[in-house]
Amino acid sequence: MANPIVKYENVHKSFGEVKVLKGIDLDLMPAEKVAVIGPSGSGKTTIIRMLMTLEQPTLGSIVVDGKNLWQMEKNDQLMDANEKHLRQVRGDIGMVFQHFNLFPHLTILENCMTAPIHVQKESKASAKNRSIEMLEKVGLGDKLENYPSQLSGGQKQRVAMARALVMRPKIMLFDEVTSALDPELVEEVLTVIRGIANEGKMAMVLVTHEMEFAQDIADRVLFLDGGVIAEQGSPDEVFGNSENERLQSFLHRFR
Ligand code: ADP
Repeated sequence: MANPIVKYENVHKSFGEVKVLKGIDLDLMPAEKVAVIGPSGSGKTTIIRMLMTLEQPTLGSIVVDGKNLWQMEKNDQLMDANEKHLRQVRGDIGMVFQHFNLFPHLTILENCMTAPIHVQKESKASAKNRSIEMLEKVGLGDKLENYPSQLSGGQKQRVAMARALVMRPKIMLFDEVTSALDPELVEEVLTVIRGIANEGKMAMVLVTHEMEFAQDIADRVLFLDGGVIAEQGSPDEVFGNSENERLQSFLHRFR
């Protein structure tokens, strides 16, 4: 069996006195699609922000593609955070946020080209070609010279996806990417994510409130509650016949 591309072991996270994550163990396999669901404030975003090194665990370890990303001992002591490792690992991971985070003063083509040129030291011509290819893939080939302010929310979110894909990540993280969108724009963004997922190559972690979408796209669904993974399984197991009462009452709100 293949090795996991991401491995969380006994990961804890507190903000001050508030214990948000209380021991997360999670293996993500290459090309696996995992949906993370759970009540607001249950720590879903925090789980993926640690992978982007936007948050540091309080305890536990996270290994990405065999490299230590975080290895925390008691008392917040960082045992291993080799800068070179961190940079390599960050390069393997792309993230799309709830609020697009595009550069407003750059065209959408320039938004996509910036990181390959400055971070991956790719030539301008090659970065441009690949950015155009990715923007075409998300259906925005006719908007290359537009600025973010000229686009709808759904289009901005598709630019954010193209911008992440251009970096050729092995893992893509989606943090409630449709929550800030008007309802009529949600489907176009989900369609693009489905397309990326169906290509099958990348591992994906999707924090989402779109239950039908999670059911449709995920190989595995995690229900986060009370700082732990309270339930996990195939979409049929989690949405179908789990006996977990907290999960049942959570899902009930979406029916
Ligand atoms: P979810 O994504 O499930 O809604 P989050 O991971 O965003 O949950 O947040 C979990 C909890 O951690 C919340 O109570 C939130 O207020 C708290 N939290 C998140 N980030 C911070 C922070 N930077 N400082 C303090 N508290 C935070």
